[in-house]
This record gives sequence, C-alpha cells and structure tokens, in this order.
Amino acid sequence: MRVVLLGPPGAGKGTQAATMVEKYHIAHISTGDLLRAAVKEGTPLGLEAKGYMESGQLVPDSLILGLVEERIQKEDCQEGFLLDGFPRTPAQADALGEMLNKLNQALDAVINIQVPMDKLMARLTGRRVCKSCGATFHNVFNPSAKGDFCDKCGAELYQRADDTEETVKARLDVYEQQTAPLISYYAEKGLLKDINGDQDIKKVDEDIARALGGK
Ligand code: ADP
Ligand code: ADP
Ligand code: ZN
Repeated sequence: MRVVLLGPPGAGKGTQAATMVEKYHIAHISTGDLLRAAVKEGTPLGLEAKGYMESGQLVPDSLILGLVEERIQKEDCQEGFLLDGFPRTPAQADALGEMLNKLNQALDAVINIQVPMDKLMARLTGRRVCKSCGATFHNVFNPSAKGDFCDKCGAELYQRADDTEETVKARLDVYEQQTAPLISYYAEKGLLKDINGDQDIKKVDEDIARALGGK
C-alpha cells in the first residue's frame, strides 16, 4: 500500500503515521524527520536546509527530491510506504508521480487530515517529541504518562525549534499558499480521502482505517 498523508502542520500526520505503519507493515517516510536528522548530523544537505526550516519556509526541491527518490527504493518500502510531509507542492507531486512511474508503482490513496486552522497553533506550540524514539506527544491533548519523559522509551522530550508561535504562523501561511492546492490536485486524480482530524486520536485512526478499507 502506497499512501500520502496530507494536512497542515499539526493536523496529526506523524501521530497517525505511527499507528498506521504498525498496522499495515509499511515504511514511514517523513521528510521532516529525514531533514532534521541531516541537520543534526551536519551533512551538507542538512547545513543547507537548516535556515529554511528555522524560518518555516520549504526547503528547495533540489534538496528534497533526491532524498525521497533514494528512500522509496529501499528494501523496507517493498510492501509499501506512507509519505508524511511530502509532497508539499504541486511540483513535488508531479515529481513523485514521475518517480513512481519509473518504478512501475502508483499511489493507492491520499489521506487528507482536516483540522480547522484556528486549532493548529495550540497543537503545535504544545507539541513535545521524544529525543530518542521520535514519539510525539502534546502537553495538554496527549501528554506522556511520564511527564517530561517518553512513556515508550524513557528518554527526554523536547520542543522542536520551529514550534514557536512566530514560526508556526509562517508555516501555516506556507501551507495555505503552497500545499493546500494539492487537495484539488489529488481529488482530480480520484485519490483523495477526506478525514476529520478534529476528534480523538483513536477516532481519527479508525476513520483512516475505514477509508483505506479495501486496500
Ligand atoms: P503533524 O505531523 O501533522 O505536524 P503531529 O502528529 O505532530 O502533526 O501532531 C501535532 C500535535 O497535535 C502533537 O502534539 C500531537 O500530540 C497533537 N495531536 C495529534 N492528533 C491530535 C488529535 N486528534 N487531537 C488533539 N491533539 C492531537
Ligand atoms: P510539520 O508537519 O509539523 O509542518 P515537518 O516535520 O513535516 O513539519 O516539516 C518541518 C520543516 O521541514 C518544514 O517547515 C520545511 O522547512 C521542511 N520540510 C519538510 N518536508 C518538506 C518538503 N516536502 N518540502 C520542503 N520542505 C520540507
Ligand atoms: Zn521515546
């Protein structure tokens, strides 16, 4: 199964991806995670991406496309993959279509997680992420049972550098202008499944499973 998770920053893509990859035995490909790992390691790509990420802008396609093309050909993607945070523009979606064509593959569905824009700020500024396993929490909506530590692996939680009010505003603007056009892009291809993301995490999970039903 090859699926794209679409939705604004804070919609719950990473949260849902964590349960979906276990359920469907597919690889989770988060371009944000790949970029943050490159920044942490200080690779040339990471050094170039850092400034864009800190200001909430998209990093250039020249950095992202190669990263994704290499990743989707790895062994763990044979049974399928879940793309989280990619594509983010119609140009990236065109590039993905070409990559998949070359590999004789196609997308099965695009899950569009919808959350009212005015709820996203609180979700993002309260987000906490595990330093070690990457699990995502929220200090109010989905707290770790161990407070400031991860209840899955025990490591410390941190706040992402771009989850500040100012950067979140920029990221929401970028979403509206550059990413939201993907909704009609994929609707026209008959791939779009709208999901109400403004309900309990478990409920969202059930709705996604239902939408993917026959896959
Ligand atoms: P995205 O990957 O789309 O940016 P995340 O999965 O990281 O979003 O979720 C953003 C924040 O909102 C996290 O702190 C997460 O714990 C919280 N969250 C995710 N889903 C829900 C939900 N259904 N209701 C309330 N909070 C949620
Ligand atoms: P969120 O879903 O919370 O917005 P991500 O982890 O997906 O966060 O992305 C964090 C940052 O990484 C983005 O603001 C952007 O700078 C960069 N990024 C991630 N994916 C892409 C992409 N497909 N194209 C360009 N930039 C990206
Ligand atoms: Zn952890």
